[in-house]
Amino acid sequence: MATESSGDLRLIDITKRYETFTAVDNLSLVIPQGSFFALLGPSGCGKTTTLRMVAGLEQPTVGRILIGDRDITDTKAYQRNVNTVFQSYALFPHLSILDNVTFGLRRRGVSDYKAKAMEALELVQLAHIAKKKPAQLSGGMQQRVALARAIVNRPDVLLLDEPLGALDLKLRRQMQIELKRIQSEVGITFVHVTHDQEEAMTMADTIAVMNAGRLEQVGDPGVLYENPATTFVANFLGQSNLLKAEVVGTPGELADLDVHGTKLRLPTPRLVEGVQTMWLGVRPEKLRLVNGDGTGVEDGLNSLTGTVTDASFTGLATNYLVRLPWGQELAVVQQNDGMPRASVGTSVTLAWAPEHSFALDSRQDAHA
Ligand code: ATP
Repeated sequence: MATESSGDLRLIDITKRYETFTAVDNLSLVIPQGSFFALLGPSGCGKTTTLRMVAGLEQPTVGRILIGDRDITDTKAYQRNVNTVFQSYALFPHLSILDNVTFGLRRRGVSDYKAKAMEALELVQLAHIAKKKPAQLSGGMQQRVALARAIVNRPDVLLLDEPLGALDLKLRRQMQIELKRIQSEVGITFVHVTHDQEEAMTMADTIAVMNAGRLEQVGDPGVLYENPATTFVANFLGQSNLLKAEVVGTPGELADLDVHGTKLRLPTPRLVEGVQTMWLGVRPEKLRLVNGDGTGVEDGLNSLTGTVTDASFTGLATNYLVRLPWGQELAVVQQNDGMPRASVGTSVTLAWAPEHSFALDSRQDAHA
């Protein structure tokens, strides 16, 4: 019986070994049908290998791949109903844009191929230049043609391997928004590979963070950012300040922590079970600079005092480094909202709400 999840893409216990090297290590993922899913991680973590296994270009050493109830692990690439968009557009230079998009449909004898191609070109807003040749188009436009060609036959899954990597930053930002719009209009499952955390957070409904062939964490971008499960995720998704903390009591909803002799608090459910010594993490933009004597810190906020060692104006915000009495420097990002800026050498107090911090098991490497 067809259900809402009848087209989910499922990777079950996937391992890929090249001789003795393990590129992907026991990876399991459920990618909901119709979602925009990002595989995020540093170079060499196994993202492309994972994508190639879904495409059918590589065979897993162990594990199964399913779309809905259909096990495609042993299905040939061209029979999977999965398409891929690469960073290189791979358009036929001698064919018009329209002929590039209709190419695959004509080969398979689809009757209304022209209407289908025009519909796909409309979706990427290029129908008006259907007669032009690829060389007459900018890089961003060529990438949109490649996208139209990849969705024209409505695959179950579209794989995107760093598709925006060749574009300059401004165009890249525009295309991120454009890709998101196109995905929500066509409703095809998009699996997007990137090493750019901002790109993944901008576009994806769900992000899977990979490191050294393994899955670190999977979830909603907000959850991964606000409550990372590992030091790797905390450091890979933006900047993190990590303070060595000791749990000294859990009197109620808030747990008491000792950080170099100062009492700080954290929502009790965020504690790592069974762990006494941990990292207390807080993002730079969650810290607020107040007067050095601590006046202006509202009740219930965590606070630490320190000295400003660097202040860099970036337009929208000022980035500070604040040295704490034990020598550790915290990064602070403060919106420029008309308040006077603190200069280097000033004593300041940093304040933040307990719920704006997270806990990590300190047995993990904090600088992963
Ligand atoms: P990048 O962003 O640089 O493409 P990635 O996360 O996509 O990185 P993969 O391309 O999946 O990483 O590669 C993962 C690891 O597997 C790398 O160390 C790579 O050298 C190795 N690898 C990939 N393909 C092969 C192969 N055919 N033979 C041996 N090792 C391979």
